[in-house]
Amino acid sequence: MISSFIRILTAFAGEIVFLGLAYVLEVITAFCKPQNNFLNALLDNFEHALLACLSWFVLVFVFMRRDLMLFSLVAFILGSAMDIDHFLSAKSFKLDKALSLPSRPPFHNTPLTFLLAFVIYIAVYWTVNDQKLSLMAALSLVNAWISHQLRDALRRGLWLYPVMPDTEPLSMPQYLSALFCLFFLEFVILEVTFKYKLMLMMNNLNHV
Ligand SMILES: [Zn+2]
Repeated sequence: MISSFIRILTAFAGEIVFLGLAYVLEVITAFCKPQNNFLNALLDNFEHALLACLSWFVLVFVFMRRDLMLFSLVAFILGSAMDIDHFLSAKSFKLDKALSLPSRPPFHNTPLTFLLAFVIYIAVYWTVNDQKLSLMAALSLVNAWISHQLRDALRRGLWLYPVMPDTEPLSMPQYLSALFCLFFLEFVILEVTFKYKLMLMMNNLNHV
């Protein structure tokens, strides 16, 4: 009970620091926007990856688990790799074509991300029969891609087709609140999963 309480406090403290960093990142970007298109896209992509990695790292900090640590790198790669859909939709590796699409590319659709995460969960579970690993794989995708979409939503709003109409561009408080909700969802899912596993192990020991 006490350990859960301390973990919740640690989670709040860690997430507040992260939200502060996410805010500072946007302020710095607004002041130091490169004029060159290529550099601008490169910096923006790196910031997405960094945001995904840092937001996952709060979970590592809270749960202090080595297996979670490994997924920080996965989150970093996924946060960056999401923008590959610009090039896939443009059917070209030219940046100007990738940045002038008539509609938004598919990986930027929020409901699709949750659907993909569900598919990944089932696929990993089927392949390795490890509930914890499949959950972390699915959650790291949700973490990286939803944080990416939220950051993009500061300029363009969220693309929620076909579940809901698209949103207006998010304000900074809405963006930070949505990042907090995303973290809270991941925290609760992992807390319940790790606790349930522990209870299951203790039950098995009692029956030996
Ligand atoms: Zn993007």
